[in-house]
Amino acid sequence: MSENDRRRPESVAGIDLGTTNSLIAVMEGARPRVLPAPEGRAVMPSVVAVTAAGEIVVGEQARRYLLDAPECTAYSVKRLMGKGPADIGEERRLFPFRIEEQGDTIIRLRLGERVLTPPELSACILRQLVLNAEAHLGARLRQAVITVPAYFNDAQRQATRDAGRIAGIEVLRLVNEPTAAALAYGLDRRREGVVAVYDLGGGTFDISILKLHDGIFEVLATHGDTHLGGDDIDNLLLRIALEEIRNEWGEEPAGEALQRLRRTVIEAKERLSEAPEAEIQFARGRRRYSRRIARGLFERLIADIVERTLASCRQCLRDAGLTAGQVDEVVLVGGSTRIPMVRRAVAGLFGRQPHTELNPEEVVALGAAVEGGILAGSVAGKLLLDVNPLSLGIETMGGVVSRLIPRNSTIPASASEIFTTAVDGQTNVLIHVVQGDRERVEDCRSLARFDLKGIDPLPAGLPRIEVRFLIDANGILNVTARDARTGMEQSVDVKPTYGLTEEQVQAMIAESIARAGDDLEAREVRDAQAEADAILAAVEQARREEAWTTLAEDERAAITAAVNRLLVARHSANAPLIRAMIRQLDRSTEKLAEEMLKRAGESAASADA
Ligand code: ADP
Ligand code: MG
Repeated sequence: MSENDRRRPESVAGIDLGTTNSLIAVMEGARPRVLPAPEGRAVMPSVVAVTAAGEIVVGEQARRYLLDAPECTAYSVKRLMGKGPADIGEERRLFPFRIEEQGDTIIRLRLGERVLTPPELSACILRQLVLNAEAHLGARLRQAVITVPAYFNDAQRQATRDAGRIAGIEVLRLVNEPTAAALAYGLDRRREGVVAVYDLGGGTFDISILKLHDGIFEVLATHGDTHLGGDDIDNLLLRIALEEIRNEWGEEPAGEALQRLRRTVIEAKERLSEAPEAEIQFARGRRRYSRRIARGLFERLIADIVERTLASCRQCLRDAGLTAGQVDEVVLVGGSTRIPMVRRAVAGLFGRQPHTELNPEEVVALGAAVEGGILAGSVAGKLLLDVNPLSLGIETMGGVVSRLIPRNSTIPASASEIFTTAVDGQTNVLIHVVQGDRERVEDCRSLARFDLKGIDPLPAGLPRIEVRFLIDANGILNVTARDARTGMEQSVDVKPTYGLTEEQVQAMIAESIARAGDDLEAREVRDAQAEADAILAAVEQARREEAWTTLAEDERAAITAAVNRLLVARHSANAPLIRAMIRQLDRSTEKLAEEMLKRAGESAASADA
């Protein structure tokens, strides 16, 4: 690398790892910018496919496999993050890919000849985003801020962190998506006030109420549903189409045909945001199905979904101790907020027009890049406070939860409480950590269990056991139990129970370097090398042309130097470096290309004469 490249401070990427779409952004000077994928679009479908050759493809390319090879393609993986087989009962039917179970705790998807876990699949998406960004920037990206829905529990957050690690990215911080959106908007308007962020994407719904003051964003409350979004709207329309097709044809499309139908349904839905009606058209062999959907019908169909988001908003307002009228600004995030009825409903509830100046699909990634800038030290003067979305506590006698950190506490947070034994001479206590807002343990989510051993055998009620909870800035919980008399201490980083052990994650990291890493990076390198060969050949050719002799000595020297640098880079396995050198050579040959064009023009003119 040149001196210049080495001196440039490391960028921290901001990544919106979405259910449907993912994006990557970086700070460019004082502003965040979304970086496009090779296809030129910033939005990359969160789709991963395994080719017949066992190669992994991601994004737009993978989406094409949805039609031809749905059994080799995974989408909506975010819905499976941090979940065990028991958590996904209903959804199973709607997923075309095969879910394999292992020991009842880990979800694995079989895609063609490969079997991958949700964190590994998310890692493929993250890695592709980073590769795209690196190719674009001509620099390495090693660190990132990744966003998660505000309502994600500990297991889901941990799974997202694991995905980052498997992808070889240092995840500096997980940030709630609505918080990132507020950051993106806060760049332009730094004023006091209360802001509601309404995010309706493909797979999740979040509402957050934030307070802005003195450049600080404080999340007052969050609410939402990790199972509510555009996918549900798609399913409503799909169900109608399927039923009508079954009535007309006597059978329903399945497999590849079903995916094709789903695509048409989604396209019709998105058209309905602009047009008063849209048509679902589907053909199979000689049979045709066509269904016109008017906006009125569409709005009746989705009324229930929209109402559920509003109910969530009302709950969030109650949690924040505010009325709708006390909200100063409303921000819309997520592709599904393009639906006019959604905009109307949100405006109605809060009694004001929501903000839509930033692209609702890009807002989160832009805000994540701003947070990356803050952590890298390039954006100053901002502090980010977040809240814990669900209460955290431990099980006490009779299966009742004792809450240590209540829902919506500002994090980082810590709390401690003294407990004692229930039986005379008891020498160990089982500490059972739970997450949730219900009174009874069986209604909450179990996060971890551990034993505090070595307690002095005393009569019941005498030992003093201090249990201390500490949530760090990422929302990851550490629990310590300590016998105040003996000083005996036991501590766990709460590793949620979605099933991947540290050893398994390590194995995946190793394997992804050996395999998936190979696939993607090797392909990137091959592509870059091919491009390098093409431009090197073109320059070699040009050197034999007359135009070459018209260049000044130093211009020729610059080209020769750039050629040499590219030749050296070509032999490295570093695609971003190769691309950066290609661009350098491109720039140094601008004059030469101009001369050649001029000459070509002249000779054409003389041939005409
Ligand atoms: P996520 O954050 O879940 O990845 P996005 O914010 O990218 O989701 O939104 C994706 C969802 O937005 C999809 O369900 C998509 O169909 C929907 N969507 C995108 N554009 C439109 C539109 N014009 N009208 C209605 N829905 C749309
Ligand atoms: Mg989103």
